[in-house]
Amino acid sequence: MPPEAAAAALQASGVPLLNVVGLKKHFALHGGLLGLSTGKVHAVDGVSFTLRRGETLSVVGESGCGKSTVGKTILRLLDPTEGEIWLDGARIDTLPARQLRPLRRRVQVVFQDPFSSLNPRMRVRDILAEPVVNFGLAKSGSELDDRIAALMDKVHLPRDALRRYPHEFSGGQRQRIGIARALAPGADLIICDEAVSALDVSVKAQIVNLLAELQDELGLALLFISHDLAIVEHLTHRVGVMYLGKIVELTDRRTLFSRAHHPYTKALLSAVPVPDPLAKRDRIILRGDVPSPINPPSGCRFHTRCPFVFDRCRVEEPLLRPVGEAHLSACHLDASVAVQTERLLPHHA
Ligand code: SF4
Repeated sequence: MPPEAAAAALQASGVPLLNVVGLKKHFALHGGLLGLSTGKVHAVDGVSFTLRRGETLSVVGESGCGKSTVGKTILRLLDPTEGEIWLDGARIDTLPARQLRPLRRRVQVVFQDPFSSLNPRMRVRDILAEPVVNFGLAKSGSELDDRIAALMDKVHLPRDALRRYPHEFSGGQRQRIGIARALAPGADLIICDEAVSALDVSVKAQIVNLLAELQDELGLALLFISHDLAIVEHLTHRVGVMYLGKIVELTDRRTLFSRAHHPYTKALLSAVPVPDPLAKRDRIILRGDVPSPINPPSGCRFHTRCPFVFDRCRVEEPLLRPVGEAHLSACHLDASVAVQTERLLPHHA
């Protein structure tokens, strides 16, 4: 089934697996001899989205936009400052630490660097056995062996590799081990935090294909956190674009790549390489750096870099609002103006 049709079918069914409502995560800053509070970092500042079973939502943005903090807060590696997180209809952001065990089983993570997240002193067999044993998912030694062998098959690694250590594998193979470990406790949701960013282009594609295959087979939900729009184009059903702690555009993959509304999304898209070397794409070069999340700009947080800024943008914060079917954008430009501006984009190639 094409991704858009799958996403539409999922959208029509029941309660979302994950529901994030108004999520905020601020980090207090302390300084001086007395260690007094000197301000706070607005890492995540009011993020809301849903994710259904079998669906991939990509959260995309530049480094420091807060996307990894969203993932860590859902995993409860960080406690939210404000907002709600619901998993399968049950609220998880208020769970005390001693009740996090079921969450740890159902929500797993694959990090960017599998080498640092896999214990170098453990053989692959022990790495995969640990979550199965910890969550009491095998009743006997032979059942444990069967589960581990099945995990190796799922990620297309040979079973004789179970005797080896992580350093004996390539980066792509280590990421397969990381994925197998995430699958081991029977997770429903896997958060992939820059999971393919450190890999070569061809290996990236193999891991993306593997994730898509596992999603089809197991009905997994994937929250795919990435700075790379080119990669998410081949994997995702929907995309949320983040800038300075907020989602500025949220829509399905096809709409985002063909009719993006927000000027920041358009700038990110303009940097995605086109496969045809003769095809030319006008690159939108953004002015300046991403402002500090300690003291974000007034009004629209993107106004200091936006090629289309006007007076209202500096004083009034744009809220996420519909600009098309299942298409939300946080920008004061209306849809028709945004289309017109496509012809006016600065040519900085
Ligand atoms: Fe640019 Fe204004 Fe839209 Fe912000 S609200 S993205 S500054 S046009």
